[in-house]
Amino acid sequence: MNSPIDLMRRQVSELHQELVRYGLVVWTAGNVSARVPGKDLLVIKPSGVPYDELSPRNMIVCDLDGTVVEGDHSPSSDTAAHAYVYRHMPEVGGVVHTHSTYASAWAARGEAVPCVLTAMADEFGAAIPVGPFALIGDDSIGMGIVETLQGHRSPAVLMKSHGVFTIGKDAKAAVKAAVMCEDVARTVHISRQLGEPLPIAQDDIDRLNHRYRTVYGQRPAAR
Ligand SMILES: [Zn+2]
Repeated sequence: MNSPIDLMRRQVSELHQELVRYGLVVWTAGNVSARVPGKDLLVIKPSGVPYDELSPRNMIVCDLDGTVVEGDHSPSSDTAAHAYVYRHMPEVGGVVHTHSTYASAWAARGEAVPCVLTAMADEFGAAIPVGPFALIGDDSIGMGIVETLQGHRSPAVLMKSHGVFTIGKDAKAAVKAAVMCEDVARTVHISRQLGEPLPIAQDDIDRLNHRYRTVYGQRPAAR
């Protein structure tokens, strides 16, 4: 079975294990979703199922209003936020949410992580911004994510007093952003213990980000 939905079920199921591998989640917190290419559907984690028990089969398929189309469980309680992002940011193919420790510690203070490392300039191109405090249950979280990230270079937002949401062109890119977000939140936190991290000039941030987006990485070999 290789339909686009089946491929996304497998991909989303496997990517949840990356959240575990990188230590970004505990218990059943956190979730990954992917847009199904060419369809107004998303695939997301079921609510309350332990990470060890996740499989392609128990992933939930929803429409972009968050209504279940296929699945035996309820979808993640964050489905409305994911669905809101897909409805309002057509370029987004994947969304990740975690309460990873260091990033959430910044979120608890409502403080953006300043862009003081070249790796941050590469991946985030700016400070990692803070989004509004929002309660679960309606579109407030989704609206906060979209308002903060639309037109922003950063693929990650620290939702105040809550945790991290990241976006990407696909679910793997969103997972990568979640991993990098925790990594730089941790490093900048540690740096802060002995002083104030040095700023990087905006010009240099711009150059690094541009190079990372356009030059860095493996390109297909010319034939
Ligand atoms: Zn949460």
